[in-house]
Amino acid sequence: MKYIGAHVSSSGGVENAPLNAKEIGATAFALFTKNQRQWVSAPLSKKSIESFKERCEEFGFKPFQILPHDSYLINLGHPEGDGLDKSRAAFLDEMQRCEQLGLDRLNFHPGSHLNKISITECLTRIAESINLTLDKTKGVTAVIENTAGQGSNLGHTFEQIAEIIYQVEDKSRVGVCIDTCHSFAAGYDLSNEKGFNDAFSHFDKVIGFKYLKGMHLNDAKKGLNSRVDRHDSLGKGELGEETFKILMKDKKFNGIPMILETPDFEIWSKEIAQLKEWAGII
Ligand SMILES: [Zn+2]
Ligand SMILES: [Zn+2]
Repeated sequence: MKYIGAHVSSSGGVENAPLNAKEIGATAFALFTKNQRQWVSAPLSKKSIESFKERCEEFGFKPFQILPHDSYLINLGHPEGDGLDKSRAAFLDEMQRCEQLGLDRLNFHPGSHLNKISITECLTRIAESINLTLDKTKGVTAVIENTAGQGSNLGHTFEQIAEIIYQVEDKSRVGVCIDTCHSFAAGYDLSNEKGFNDAFSHFDKVIGFKYLKGMHLNDAKKGLNSRVDRHDSLGKGELGEETFKILMKDKKFNGIPMILETPDFEIWSKEIAQLKEWAGII
C-alpha cells in the first residue's frame, strides 16, 4: 500500500496536524513538532500530546505513516563546538518530542561543513551526533534526508549517506528519506524510467532499500545537477509527471510515508488524489 500526504501545518498545536492531513484526503503526513525557525520551544503539553494521539487513532494514522521533520537550524555536522552542542541538544529535544507523541521516526538534513572542516570529518561528526542521540532515546529512528547539495550541505550523494550509516552503531534505528527534487538537483535523473531505475538500483547497492523510511515527493524548479533546492508542484517542474507515475506503480516504495512538500498547498488535495489514482488506490 502507498501512504500519501503532505507536510501539513501544526500551527496552534501538533494536534492540528492530523486534522489538516485528514482534510486534504491524506493517508500520511509530515509535521514540525515545534517552531522550525526557533532553537527553543515550550515543551508539548499533556493535553496536546493526548489530543494528537486520539486524532491519529481516529483518522487511522499509524506511526509508520507519519514523518516528522526537525528544525532547519540544526547542523549535526557543525564544525564548531558551540554550534555542534546547540544542534545536538536541539536534536535530542526533537527526538524526545517524537517519543512523547508515540512516533517512530524523525526526518532531518544531515549537516553542513561550512567550509571549515573536511567532508570526511563532517560525516563522522554527523554519525557521532546520531549515536549520542540514539543512546539517550528509545523507539525513534533517525531518518537522514538526501539533500540537493546546496552550499556546503552534505548528503547529496548516496555514498555520503552510506558513510554516515556505516558509522552509526545501532543500525536498526537509522534510516533514509529520499526527496525527489533534491535527488534531481544532486544529479540523479529521476525524470525518465531509465534514469529512475538506474538511480534506485544504485541506491539499493550503496545504501539498501531496507533503510528507506520515507519519501518526499516534489517536482524540481531547477535543472538536473543544479545543486539548488527549489521545489515545484508535481508535473510543473523539470521532473514532470513521469517520475511520480513510475514511483506510484513501484512496489519497492510501499509501506512508507510519501510526503508532498510542494509550494502550492491549495492544490495538495488534488495532487494527493492524482497520486492515489496513479497508485491504483480508489
Ligand atoms: Zn527536508
Ligand atoms: Zn524534502
